Amino acid sequence: MTEALFRDDAYLKNCDATVVGLADNAIVLDRTVFYAMGGGQPGDTGTISWDAGTAEIVDTRYGENGEIRHLTAEGSSLPPAGTAVSAEIDWDRRYRHMRMHTGLHLIGAVLQYGVTGGSISEQKSRLDFDMQDPIDKEKLTVDIQALVDADKPVSCRWISDEELEAQPELVRTMSVQPPKGAGKVRLLEIQDIDLQPCGGTHLRSTGEVGAFHIGKVEKKGKHNRRVNLHLD
Ligand SMILES: [Zn+2]
Repeated sequence: MTEALFRDDAYLKNCDATVVGLADNAIVLDRTVFYAMGGGQPGDTGTISWDAGTAEIVDTRYGENGEIRHLTAEGSSLPPAGTAVSAEIDWDRRYRHMRMHTGLHLIGAVLQYGVTGGSISEQKSRLDFDMQDPIDKEKLTVDIQALVDADKPVSCRWISDEELEAQPELVRTMSVQPPKGAGKVRLLEIQDIDLQPCGGTHLRSTGEVGAFHIGKVEKKGKHNRRVNLHLD
């Protein structure tokens, strides 16, 4: 099992770690700052360096039993198990993911409908809603801008499976249920705005979302509306 340092501090850009093994062309570490793909957010990219070499990391995924696999570029040299390494993410890319991710939470807080899907990338992100009503893009933009301007603090805390079961209204995402069975679930809280299970990386405050604009609002089927978010 890899210790996921990004869960407690999304602003960590690098860490020291030890190689515990290799899985095909992926490096498995005892701890990492690399976010592993999940919840619509892409895995991190970056580099893993050691005395004798450097590997370019092109993606990060979960493997078996909670291990995190750092997928290397083709032809990379690989450090053997036991090697002390330094792991560093492509911070500019990740920070855009954090701005996007937090921005999607704000869209979800303004549009109080079930979320049926979502996807994050550096350039464009989207959130899908189970709704038939038309979306007023101008009003949505004004409402989200107000939440960004309010610069509300964003934080995470853990609750037990039992506590979550007692509050089913916390689960807004209908397509993705939070992982259960680990005994606890991670909650994302945007003060006064949003509270829901989420395992992604977020900003410290909504003001850091910065300049954005709402892109196309698409009708994807009778019961589905898709909202696109862009960063400026
Ligand atoms: Zn989130």
